[in-house]
Amino acid sequence: MKKLIAIIMSALMILSLAACGEETETTVAPESTEAQSQEPDTGAPESQEAAEFTTVQPGKLIMATNASFPPYEYTDDGDNIIGIDPEIAALIAQELGLELEIQDMEFGSIITAVQTGKVDIGLAGMTVTEDRLQNVNFSSSYAKGVQVVIVPEGSEIKSIDDLTGKKIGVQESTTGHIYCEDDFGADNVVAFPNGTQAVQALVSGKVDCVVIDNNPAKAFVEANEGLTILDSAYADEDYAAAISKDNEALLAAFNAVLDAKIADGTIQGIIDKYIPTEN
Ligand code: GLN
Repeated sequence: MKKLIAIIMSALMILSLAACGEETETTVAPESTEAQSQEPDTGAPESQEAAEFTTVQPGKLIMATNASFPPYEYTDDGDNIIGIDPEIAALIAQELGLELEIQDMEFGSIITAVQTGKVDIGLAGMTVTEDRLQNVNFSSSYAKGVQVVIVPEGSEIKSIDDLTGKKIGVQESTTGHIYCEDDFGADNVVAFPNGTQAVQALVSGKVDCVVIDNNPAKAFVEANEGLTILDSAYADEDYAAAISKDNEALLAAFNAVLDAKIADGTIQGIIDKYIPTEN
């Protein structure tokens, strides 16, 4: 009998040790009750009540971005990554009891980094598209984007139709890149690793125009003399955070905070800080 108990005991110990060993990722429960109590009518998943989630590194929220996309993400004089997206991520990380870490990479690497579990979220003025939804989940949308065309002042390009046969600069793997290749042919499109380089190519006459999101376009036009933005817009879009399809719990927790911060005007306040209202 004693032997049997000993066997059962040691089996139990092995089982519990195995269970400990499996826990390489910390489970973090959201600290904020605010997110839940201020949550009147959002479409956030119901599972948020029991939202327990894991992150790539315990205690951290790792965000992938491409910090050449002002005012959503860019670097200050001290090489710190700042902007609308880092501020939103910092707010959500704080509410979830996590420390924010930002990793700067090419825009085209962000979805893979999320998918392969190298980072927790991609937050990069990223447009929700059907194709991307095949690979990642998206959070609630927190901002709108518009694809626009930057041209040199006095350019003969006056409307979207005039792009036919012109050299169009874009940022690699962005919606602007995809739409321009579809509409004007890959031979007419030159893809750059980021918006800054695409605009530099425009300034030095290597491309005839740049198709890029409207707010970065305004920042680039302000920073470079002799450029202007066409009045006609190319496409309207929704921005959201990309989160792994394997981490529904993180998506629910992230959305619970984001939806509450959208509802109480905090997110709009952050956006307004960087993008003064036009009207
Ligand atoms: N909104 C565009 C996209 O998602 C561009 C984003 C970016 O360059 N950071 O493709």
